[in-house]
Amino acid sequence: MDKIIIEARVNELAPRDENPNVPFLPEEIIADAKACYDAGASIIHYHGRTATGEPDHDPEFYKKTNAGIRAACPILIHPTLGYVAHGGDARERFDAMEESMKDPKTAPHFAPTDTGTVNVDWWNPEKNAYDTTNLVYENSTETLMYFADRIKHHGLKHYCVSWNISFTRQMEALMKMGVIDAPVFVLLCMTDGISLSGHPGTPEGLDAHTTFLPKDQKVFWSAMNYKGNLFLLTEKVIKEGGHISIGLGDYPYMEMGQPTNADLIAKVVEQARSLGREVATVEDTRQMLEMTSGAAAAA
Ligand code: ZN
Repeated sequence: MDKIIIEARVNELAPRDENPNVPFLPEEIIADAKACYDAGASIIHYHGRTATGEPDHDPEFYKKTNAGIRAACPILIHPTLGYVAHGGDARERFDAMEESMKDPKTAPHFAPTDTGTVNVDWWNPEKNAYDTTNLVYENSTETLMYFADRIKHHGLKHYCVSWNISFTRQMEALMKMGVIDAPVFVLLCMTDGISLSGHPGTPEGLDAHTTFLPKDQKVFWSAMNYKGNLFLLTEKVIKEGGHISIGLGDYPYMEMGQPTNADLIAKVVEQARSLGREVATVEDTRQMLEMTSGAAAAA
């Protein structure tokens, strides 16, 4: 079985009210990236945040953070392209990436592509009502093709995200078109609690995702649970040859006290080893995903 690739999803747009260890600012994200790398993660995913936790999509944030992470450790960098974009212009969403690519010191390794569109309103399980009613995470096919063009131009590695089977089908179509190249790394998104946008974070929700992965292409899949406890599924993922994307960005993990992101990574490493899976180093991850040229290969 493949070595397991572990990704730290350090912050997303998570608040600090339950777990204060969510990193917001560049220095905090850089320190967390190093701690997660030391614990066994080979990829870090982060969002730009202000000191009060609001989203910050200023290219300077990403340049500073990428450069700091590169200087601190060799972990592979996967920044967001902005989340709920409200039909935001594709060029604008790729701006921070374009600016980061002007200097090898500030370049990331991956650029994400969520291959579809989904309502992402917040569900309130106590009231049986929505707290928001207009949040759409929009990724038109035209936008996806624009991103793909720029990703190839820069020699970055595509990082696919599937929120449900229709995203997986679109990803497969884009692979058939030669827009996205194998081997593909795809994050299978499950959601729980206040988010109904992905498959449920249950064995059945995961099985529904994996059942529909392309059969005739080399695919590496990873599992996440937005707003739910991924540890309820990690044993199944490890045994089935999947990879793990976990962090305080998705869920505060108060069941473990107030863990840090590195604590979560250490727990995944321990479980993987106890179940006979070796942990992929950064170099292993590069080899597996064939990140052998361009920005994706840059140390
Ligand atoms: Zn994200």
